[in-house]
Formats: sequence, structure tokens, C-alpha cells
Amino acid sequence: MKSNTLITLVMFFSMSLFLENCTDSATQQPSNTKEDLAIAQKVKALMSKMTLTDKVGEMTQLAIDMVSVGDPYNLKEPHQLDPDKLRKTLLDLRVGSILNVGGHAYSKEHWHEIISKIQDIAMNEKPTGIPVLYGIDAIHGVNYTVGATLFPQEIALAATWNPSTALKMGEISAYETRASAIPWNFSPVLGVGRNPLWPRFWETLGEDPFLVSKMGAALIEGYEGNDIANPEKVAACMKHFLGYSMPLLGKDRTQAWIPQRELQEYFVPSFQAAVGAGVHTAMINSAEMNGIPVHCNPKILKDLLRDQLGFKGLAVSDWEDIKYLYTRHHVAKDYKDAIKLAINAGVDMSMVAMDYDFPVLLKELVEEGEVPMSRINESVARILTLKFQLGLFEHPYYPLENYPDFGSEKHANASFQAALESLTLLKNEKNTLPISKKAKILVTGPTAHSLNALNGGWTNTWQGDESKYNTPGKKTILEAIQDKIGAAKVTFVEGTSVDEAINIPQAAAAARRSKVAIVCIGEMTYTEKPGDIDELELPEAQQNLVKAIAKTGTPIVLVLVEGRPRTLHGIEPDASAVLMTYLSGNEGGRAIAEVLFGDYNPNGKLPFTYPRYANSLDTYDHKYTDEFSRDFSQNGFNPQWEFGSGLSYTTFEYSNLKLNANQISKDKPLQISVTLTNTGKRAGQEVVQLFVSDEVASITPPVKRLRGFQKTNLQAGESKTISFTLKLEDLAFVGLDNEWVTEPGEFEAQIGGLKEKFSYAEE
Ligand code: BGC
Repeated sequence: MKSNTLITLVMFFSMSLFLENCTDSATQQPSNTKEDLAIAQKVKALMSKMTLTDKVGEMTQLAIDMVSVGDPYNLKEPHQLDPDKLRKTLLDLRVGSILNVGGHAYSKEHWHEIISKIQDIAMNEKPTGIPVLYGIDAIHGVNYTVGATLFPQEIALAATWNPSTALKMGEISAYETRASAIPWNFSPVLGVGRNPLWPRFWETLGEDPFLVSKMGAALIEGYEGNDIANPEKVAACMKHFLGYSMPLLGKDRTQAWIPQRELQEYFVPSFQAAVGAGVHTAMINSAEMNGIPVHCNPKILKDLLRDQLGFKGLAVSDWEDIKYLYTRHHVAKDYKDAIKLAINAGVDMSMVAMDYDFPVLLKELVEEGEVPMSRINESVARILTLKFQLGLFEHPYYPLENYPDFGSEKHANASFQAALESLTLLKNEKNTLPISKKAKILVTGPTAHSLNALNGGWTNTWQGDESKYNTPGKKTILEAIQDKIGAAKVTFVEGTSVDEAINIPQAAAAARRSKVAIVCIGEMTYTEKPGDIDELELPEAQQNLVKAIAKTGTPIVLVLVEGRPRTLHGIEPDASAVLMTYLSGNEGGRAIAEVLFGDYNPNGKLPFTYPRYANSLDTYDHKYTDEFSRDFSQNGFNPQWEFGSGLSYTTFEYSNLKLNANQISKDKPLQISVTLTNTGKRAGQEVVQLFVSDEVASITPPVKRLRGFQKTNLQAGESKTISFTLKLEDLAFVGLDNEWVTEPGEFEAQIGGLKEKFSYAEE
């Protein structure tokens, strides 16, 4: 039972002092290595020669549109840099950073041409000779370079529950980003996806802070390695700090209301893990939280990010977000006022992105004493430190020939493996799957023959919806199935678009002639605001397609291609099997065919709770009262599929859950083991998940929390012992004083349906 005294105060967050010396405070890693000290010296020396114009210029980031021929958002094709605009930007305004692509993916040769021109002017003609820091969203591979390796999106990656897969994706993405001459990647998204309506849900690593922390840290390690000057590494950017992923209404860039306790317990840990992994940059949340836009909230940008988390890297705004303080949020009276609020709150670099006014107004603010010079120096030091850490002064870009593996078969295979590992089998009645390769099959549905649907947003274009830019030779689900079993056995009827019927009766007629109907439903691609929806339920047209086919009696396999869980309780009973595929990327079609026809044994697990009803959006770690049902039972939590679920073509049995002691203490972590046996007929992988429940606590405890997971491979008949170490701090929660605490009392460890109790007594 819980005692009144809080026995263990677990300080997760080291307080870091705001150092007076701006060069020291700007070094991301502890400034005690020889390299860090050398960089700090260089930054100091360089800054002593910089004018105010140089400095505010460094803090400015413009979109490529501002240095290209044509109008912003409407550049001339084919893309060309505009030498006059480039000189104005780099030489007059001294802009320190450029971002994005103009409209659609460029070839890697074109990227080299662009970046080398930019760097040549910046370094040879600008008085300071400071190179430009180019940034891009390479969120599932370097998705704005033609022919790049496109991986599954983050939500699918999370479904692998395999940090080594995240590491690999990070490594290859970093390699191909640097191959495109770009050293800075605006990835990963580390907000926990706890509202499935949010159109950026698929950019998250799921709903659980522990899973997101582990997978996110692995991705960062892959991007950055241990030295971002390495020509195959990039600087990562943890985003969006903080609280963006939980809009109250589910719409993008709308208000979130997150109490301090929930913020610390659910939203901070993944960012803290990223800081621990050494991430060099952060991007700020575009939205407002608790009535305050994060871009002007020093409590988040200074107290939390810097003092509590100890982050020493560069904090960049999101797109146009300083201006939005004035135009959207109505907390500033004009653009200049907005700049003052944001820079004083702690923003280091403004992703402007489409005007030339920012550096001019910021300079005025400093001259008028509205923004202190110390604030400017602090930010500029962070920016220059990063440029030195990336090695840009010596190597503003590397020759293209250094990257022979760009878009290689080897890289495509890694993406294929990630896609395979992500596919999550949610239902498989009477072993409908795998399907015999001899069977006559109907393939239908709006996502069956679309590479864009498989890839989702940020694919060659921002919205990822223009098929003319797709990588040639990559297979849709339909094409991959045709390749696998022979086109003669496959009938394809579209059935519907995402929300309108096309030829449902023909699809039903074809189903009658088929052994199995593979119905590929879900969503078409979207990114950010355009992906807002008013209804989580799967559009009616698609449901009608499933219902019409169900009437034929032909078994239905639902293949879900979607960035968020669209509810489908009305048609789920009609399906014999359901395969969740998320947004599985360029190799997703092939991977799906492997699973459908049994050449790969699925092992993905849901990284979120799949809701049954659009208005019951509980997460797995809800409170006991959330389970209280209208019949006064505790059966009120009734999702379609639970967090962590996913079937296999083999069966696993859990036995022998053992704790090495029935007490945990500060010095004596608990060793927890379980025996896992593959009781089926084929090899398979299983994700062993350790959950812990705190029986009584001063803050109502969640029913359970994920405290460990391990993915393992077992041959048919094989048994393995899987062990976890549970530390006292793993049981902590954010308590009455908004500090992390572990309270004495009774706990329960749960693995694979087995449960064992243990306790923590006052020490
Ligand atoms: C998005 C960011 C992205 C930035 C640059 C914004 O609209 O919110 O996630 O990194 O654009 O493309």
C-alpha cells in the first residue's frame, strides 16, 4: 500500500546552468573534450569579427523559393537558382540557412549543383565566409531526392518494435541525405501520437513514451552516429517541441491543453531520450499549448528545454511560425512584436521562410534595446557551433562519387526488411492467411494500386500525391501480388476511390468468381493541415465495398493502408483476416505480398490502440475509471485492437514468469524472466512486452505501463528465456509536486497474459 511519505524522489532531469559564456553554452555535447573546446575557440574567434548584420543573418532561414527563379510557392520549371536573389540573400542579408525543395524532388546531381553554388558564394564572397546550413525533411529516407531509398513512415517503423531497424533506417537516410549534399535533417518527430485524428499521427512513433523514446533514440543514433562531421552522417532534429501531437480537436496546429503533470510524464520523456542520445537540433511546436503559442513560451523553450533537459543545441522555429504569432495566434501586434517575443523566449533560428523582413526587423529590435545582444550571441554561437560540428567549414559538401550506395539494391533491401517487420496481422480467422499461391484472387479497393498511398506524405512532394514523381519499378500491392502468383490468377477491380463508389457491383461479381478477396482500403496521402478530417470512421463508400463483397460469401482479407486508425467496427466482422500495413513505403507492396502469400511470417505489433468507435479514443495506459462501463462493470475499455497486438503464422506460448525477488529497491533492481516457446510449425518473431501496474498511488495510476520490450526469433518448437531488468526508477510517475517519484506499495508485472506481484517498501 502507498505510504504518505514520498520515499524516493527520482530526479530524471539534470539541471543545467545557463552559462554566461555563450560559446560554451552552445556546445551540444559537454564542453570538455578537446574537439569541443577547439570548436568553442573557433566560434568565439569568428563571432568577434561578426557585425550585427552578420549575426541576425545567421539566425535567418529562408526557403529555397527565395533564391530561385520564379515566385515563392510557384517556381519556374525546371528549377534554377536566381543569382541576384542568391546574392541578396547571402551577401546583403547574410542569411545563414536555407531549407526545403521547390515543389518536387530534385536529382542528386541538381542538389549538388544547388548546394555547391550556394556554398561557393557564401564562403568566397561573404565577408565572414561562413557556410550555409541547408536543412531538409528527410523523414522516411531523403524523400526529396529522385531515386532515393524510401522507407516506411515512422508509425510503421514503430510497429517493428525493433530499435535496430530504426538505427538502420537512420543510417541509410543520413547517408543518402549527405549524398544529396544536405547535412541537416528535420527528423524525427518525437511527439507521442495519442490523438489518432491528428493528420500527423503517422509521423509519430506511436502512443507510448517508452516505445517512442527507444525507437526515436535509435533513429537519432542512425542519423548522427557519434560524430556528425562524418560525411555519412547528418544533424538530426527532434521535433516538435513540445505538445504538438495532442491537439484537443484533432486538427493540425490547433490548441492543446496539456496539464504540467501529463506533459512531464507522457510528452517530455521522448525528447529527454533524444537529448540523451546527443541530438543536435530541435524544432519548435507550431501550435499553442494551454493558451500560449510555444514559439513565445520561455517556460518551454528555456526552463524546460535548456534548464531541465540540458539541451545545448540549436532550436529552430517551424515554418513561418514567428510571423504566425501575429497573424494566427493574435499574441503579437505586428511582425516585429512577434519577432521580439519569439527571440526573447529562446528561438535561435527563424524558419522565416518566405520573406526578407526577419533579419531587418530583428536588427532594429537589438538596436532599440528590445532584444538583448546576449540573446543574439547565444543563438549565433549555437548555430556556428553546429556548422563547425558538421565540418561545413572544411567540407561544405562532398563529391557525389563518394556515395556509390545511394538508392542501391542494398538500401532498398533494408527498406523492404523494415516494411516486412512492420506489417501487423490483426485478425486471421480459420487461417485465411496465408493465401495459397494457386488461388484465384480478387484485388480491389482504393489503395490496391497506388504507390502514393503506400508512401504517404513527404514523398517527392510535400503532399506526396503526384504519381509522376514516383520511383520507377516500385510495386503497388496489386503489382506485387501479380508478380508473386502470376497476373492470370488476379482480377483487379477498383471498387471505390477513397470516398466515392466507382464500380462496386463489378467488384462483387468478380469476388464471386474468386477464392479470396483482398480488399485494400484506407487513406490517400496527405500531410499536415490538408490531412484534417471531421470523422475518424472509414469513408462510407469503402465500407459499402466491403459489405457488397461480404454478401458474396467469398472470404475477405482487409489490407489497411492508412496513416491513422480509421474506425471500421461495422465491417470488421465481415473480414476473415485483417492486415495493418500503415504507410509502408516504396517496398511496401512487395512486403505485403510476401505476408499475404506466406513467404514471410508477420511480426509487427500495433504501436497504438486501434479504436473501435470514433468517439472512444482511449490509449492503452488509460485510468481505471476509464474502464468503468454503463453496466457498472470494468469492461468499458473496448478498442478494436489493443496496443501491442499482432498475430503470427505460428503460435507462441508464455510460461514460467519469474521474479528473482518479491521486493524491489534502489540498489536491487528486479530481474524478471519468462519462457517463450514457439508452439507452431514455422519459425517466427515475437515481441515480448513487459507491462507493470502500480496498484495504488497518490496520483491515480494508469492500468498499466510498458516498461520493457524485446524482439526475438524462434524456430518451430524452440524455447527461450527472455529477461528484463526493472529498476526502481522505471516505476516512477510524476507525483503531487510535479516531480518524478516512486511510491512504496504493491506492483504487478505482466508479460504475455502472465502476472506476478512484487512490492517496494520504504527504505
Ligand atoms: C512542418 C515541419 C517541417 C517544416 C519544414 C513545417 O510545415 O511542420 O515538420 O520540418 O515544415 O519543411
